[in-house]
Amino acid sequence: MNPERTPLLAANWKSNHHWEDCEQFVDRLQELKPDYFNPDFEPAADLLICPPFAYIALLGSLLEEAAIYLGAQDVSRFNEGAYTGDVSAAMLTDLECDYAIIGHSERRNIFGDSDEDVRDKLVQLREQKLLPVLCVGETLAVREEGRAVDFTLKQLEKLKGELQQFEPGMLVIAYEPIWAIGTGQSAEPTDAQEMAQAIRDWIGKHLGTEHEKQTLVLYGGSVKPDNIARYLEQQDVDGALVGGASLKADSFAALLDAVLAVNM
Ligand code: PEP
Repeated sequence: MNPERTPLLAANWKSNHHWEDCEQFVDRLQELKPDYFNPDFEPAADLLICPPFAYIALLGSLLEEAAIYLGAQDVSRFNEGAYTGDVSAAMLTDLECDYAIIGHSERRNIFGDSDEDVRDKLVQLREQKLLPVLCVGETLAVREEGRAVDFTLKQLEKLKGELQQFEPGMLVIAYEPIWAIGTGQSAEPTDAQEMAQAIRDWIGKHLGTEHEKQTLVLYGGSVKPDNIARYLEQQDVDGALVGGASLKADSFAALLDAVLAVNM
């Protein structure tokens, strides 16, 4: 973590939770972290919650007075029209989202999102001034072959032309080794640092020094309250994208406590 960047703790709820769970989560988070429910609070670590599309409006109203960002887990690659089932970036703006996760490995592997799809989604988000949380990362086979850094930077390389169109500070990259997502097998913190540094160097080289300074690089993959500090202690890791451990307010608050402890 670098003191020049405000760390970000991002929750990816995936297809979990129902209406009541969302309400209970917010009630409990408010009990545990009342400061974040004061709109004038200036947090030392930012919080982002990405619920399923169906509950973005609900979370938006529950968090209306909170200093907590709202995001989506994906976005349409089109801006409007006959695209049954898709939710456009402009719709996310209407719902007062600030961020959208794109390129998550579950979208790539289960739903077939290609690099071209991810690029189109970047365009949609940029046009709406929404911040992408762009996920990249390697499979276990690629890591075992010693090609993790090359593989991951190639994912960025394919998006270079579009990434160069963003303003500094408007991009978040999440390094998520696919083998670590939801498996309980987290990456070595030094491997996360090696990758985060390689990503930051790549950004400096291709997007410029302001991007290099301002882009947040997150780690994601089986992050828990008892291991998050080991990632945030790394110089180039600016936060975490968390699935399972973000579902309960107690666990999310414990993750935040650990981030704040490193940040002090
Ligand atoms: C994720 O879904 O992006 C993720 C990192 O999940 P988990 O924390 O459950 O591994």
